[in-house]
Amino acid sequence: MEVKLYNSLTRKIEVFKPIKDGQVSMYVCGPTVYDYPHIGNMRPVVVFDTLRRFFEYIGYKVTYVSNFTDIDDKIINRALKENKSEKEISSFFIDEFKKEIHDIGSKDPDITPKVSEYIPQIINYIDALVKKGAAYDFDGDVYFKVNYNQDYGILSNIDIDDLISGARVEASTKKENPLDFALWKSTDQGIQFDSPWSKGRPGWHTECCVMIDSIFPNNGLIDIHGGGYDLKFPHHENEIAQAEAMHGHHLANYWMHNNFININNEKMSKSLGNVFLAKDLINQYGGTTVRMVLLNAPYRQPINFTEQTINAAKTELNKIRNVYKQLASTLQINYVKLNNTGYKIDNNYMDKFLFALSQDLNIPNALSVLFDLMKKANVTLRDSSLNINQLQLYFYTMKDMLNILGLNIEYPILDSDDIVLYLNYLAAKEERNFALSDCIRNKLSEKGIL
Ligand SMILES: [Zn+2]
Repeated sequence: MEVKLYNSLTRKIEVFKPIKDGQVSMYVCGPTVYDYPHIGNMRPVVVFDTLRRFFEYIGYKVTYVSNFTDIDDKIINRALKENKSEKEISSFFIDEFKKEIHDIGSKDPDITPKVSEYIPQIINYIDALVKKGAAYDFDGDVYFKVNYNQDYGILSNIDIDDLISGARVEASTKKENPLDFALWKSTDQGIQFDSPWSKGRPGWHTECCVMIDSIFPNNGLIDIHGGGYDLKFPHHENEIAQAEAMHGHHLANYWMHNNFININNEKMSKSLGNVFLAKDLINQYGGTTVRMVLLNAPYRQPINFTEQTINAAKTELNKIRNVYKQLASTLQINYVKLNNTGYKIDNNYMDKFLFALSQDLNIPNALSVLFDLMKKANVTLRDSSLNINQLQLYFYTMKDMLNILGLNIEYPILDSDDIVLYLNYLAAKEERNFALSDCIRNKLSEKGIL
């Protein structure tokens, strides 16, 4: 199946061609673990999890890596403030992040490296850049020379001279060029490591390059590098600059960036006081509802978190649950055993669903295929000549679609008593004995069957 992705590097929709046939190597920049994740941190978690599930479903072997930045000024400051070690702070928030990944229906990446586990590799990498002349040591700090490459600014499409003259860059006497960025910082505060330059710690931009180099083959060239829009500059631009100096490639063939989350039509920011923590939204609305809100917009467009979009997501999920439950129950009272493997699906709907996802991961279009299928399933459920074969196809197609979207929706498993109860319910309805049918309906709904 041909997959098209928007490549931020070329600013074009391109046909995805993997480095190795049938395989996808994918790296997504993870969080700096110094605080509870806000809802914006969950968008890449959902977008790239869905992309991974889609690739896996169409037969690719995906290696998905996402890091934890567990060495950073923010972590050091919090550790000092709370009189704890950096490790205590980072471990706590790594566990918290992992919990929320699961709550929102995402799978763990295959590998979740931490910066603290890659210090020797980072030092070697920086050393190699210095030896190539792409980086220089000034008083124990090491900086990357942005002028080393011809095309610095290629990803964010910015003009270096504009940036410098725009005074957005702090002037520093230590740097040859104000845009040169730190690979190693000498420090006497917080956690520090020995290096050829000073006791210190690595800068943020190097860790992803080093982890990609260490984990993936091909001299650190991967298929897809992902992250939020806000990482394009300087973080991803600087990753590309280092990979280019080191290996002469752009680190990834496809760069993908998800857009932001707005709260009530406003950009989420600390100064506006509207930063929503993921855990609070998940506790209030449930992880599946939060995921549904995130799925309801194309990943390159902003998402608005409002009471309205949350309610819309809840309504959609209720519709999905109802049809899914009815299909599962109807099949079971007709003595169809529901299987987890070896089932058939409705290829007509699934092809349309996968096509939508193959067009730069168009999840809203894929969702409308799911809703079309549900309409059809509803009609078939009400048809007097109950077509069990067709209902099975719908049920299993829904099951696969929900799995690709990461929507964790359960269906009831009926035992023999439940089946009798359900049949009695249908009979009472048929006889228009509504007192009885209502009474049984309550029992069935208590059991989560209706
Ligand atoms: Zn990164």
